[in-house]
Amino acid sequence: MLTILPHHFAIITTDQQQEGFKLEVYLDNNATTRVDDEVLDAMRLIYIYDYGNPNSLHRKGNDAAQHMEDSRRILAKLLGVKSKEIFFTSGATESINWVMRSVARLASEKRNKLIIGAVEHKAVLKTAHDIAKIHNLDIAILPVDEKGVYLLDELEKKLDETVLLVALMSANNEVGTLQPVEEISKLVRSKAPRAFLLVDAVQSFGKSKMDLEAWNPDFLVLSAHKFHGPKGIGLLYAREGRIPFPLITGGGQERGFRAGTQNVPGIVGMAKAAELAVKDLEKNIEKMRKFQKLIAKKVETLGGVVITPLNNSLPNTITVSFPGILGHHLLNALSLEKIYVSTHSACSSSESTSHVLEAMGIKGKIALGAIRISTSRMTTEEEISFFLETLEKVLKFLGFDR
Ligand code: PLP
Repeated sequence: MLTILPHHFAIITTDQQQEGFKLEVYLDNNATTRVDDEVLDAMRLIYIYDYGNPNSLHRKGNDAAQHMEDSRRILAKLLGVKSKEIFFTSGATESINWVMRSVARLASEKRNKLIIGAVEHKAVLKTAHDIAKIHNLDIAILPVDEKGVYLLDELEKKLDETVLLVALMSANNEVGTLQPVEEISKLVRSKAPRAFLLVDAVQSFGKSKMDLEAWNPDFLVLSAHKFHGPKGIGLLYAREGRIPFPLITGGGQERGFRAGTQNVPGIVGMAKAAELAVKDLEKNIEKMRKFQKLIAKKVETLGGVVITPLNNSLPNTITVSFPGILGHHLLNALSLEKIYVSTHSACSSSESTSHVLEAMGIKGKIALGAIRISTSRMTTEEEISFFLETLEKVLKFLGFDR
C-alpha cells in the first residue's frame, strides 16, 4: 500500500522544535501553490459522490454537468465575462498553445506577424517559434526597459495591418513586474484593429487586480494551481466567436472546441479556488506587500541587490541577488534548511541564465546570483522571520562578502 508521509510541519510545538523539527517555509508560490483546504473539500465531494461523466445522459452525468456549469458561471462572473466564453483546459500551457496554434492557421501573406514579449513564459516563446516555422510567420520581439516593463513606443512601431497576434503577459513570473495591459490593449486596437490580443494572466489572478473590461483581450489564460487550486486544470477565456479551431479533437466536448472528458473535480476546485482568491484580495495584497518590503529591507542590509521593481510589481514576488554567490548554491543551502525558493522559472530551472533578466539588461554576477522569493496569502509572519534569520546564517556560511 502506498504510504503518503506528511511533509508539511507548518504548526509545530516548542517541544518538537527542541527535538529538531524545523519549520518548512514554502516561498516558491509563483511555481505552484498549496491547494486550499476548502478547495480540497469541494473536490472530494465530486470524487466520491458526483463522479459521473458530465456528458452521460443519466442523472449521475447530469449532476456532474450541473457542477461543471455552475463552476463555469462562477468563473465567468468573477472575470466579468459570459459563461460561453470560458473553456476548460489542462492549464495555461494548453490554453496558450490552443490560441497560438489555431490563430496561426488564419495566417496569410498579408497577415503573418506575431508580436511576442521578450519576457514571456516559455509556453508563449517556444510555441511562437514552432508556429512561425510551420506557418511561415514573422516574429517581432517586444523589448522591455530595465524594470522589465514592455516599451510602448516599440510596440507602436511594430503594430500594423500585418499583425495577426499579439501575445503578452500581465505580470512576469520571474521578477513580478506588472505590465501596462490597458495601454497595450488600446494601442493594439487603434494601430492593428484586426490583430488578436492574447493576455497571459497566470501570475496576476489572486495577487493583483484584473480588469478585463479595460484590458479588452480576445483571449486570456489562467492556471488553477497558481492560486491554491489543483494542478492540471486551467481555462481559456475566448471572446465570443474568436477561437477559430480546436486544438484537441475527439468527442466534441466544450461545444466542440476542446475534446476529452472534462476534469470535473478540477473544474469545481478551480472555481472554489478562484472565489477564495478574490474574496480578501486587498487584505491579502497588503499582507504580501508587507512581507515583500521586509525581505527587501533585509536583503539591502545584508548587502544584496533587489531586482524586482517594488513600485510596479506583484506584491508576492521579490527577486534578489547576492553577487558572487550563485543563485542555485543559495537555493540548495536554503533547501537544506527546509526553505524553498527558486532560481528562475521552475519550468526551466536547469538552464543557467534567465531570458527575463537578460532582456532587462541584468548580466554577470547579479544575474547568476538571482533568486526568486514568492509568497502567497498562506505565508505567515513566523515563516518570513525564520526565512530572514536563516538567509543571514546561510549567506555567512557561503562566505558572502558584500
Ligand atoms: N504563463 C506564466 C506567466 C507562468 O508563470 C506559467 C507557469 O509558470 C505558465 C504560463 C504555464 O502554466 P502551466 O504550467 O500551469 O500550464
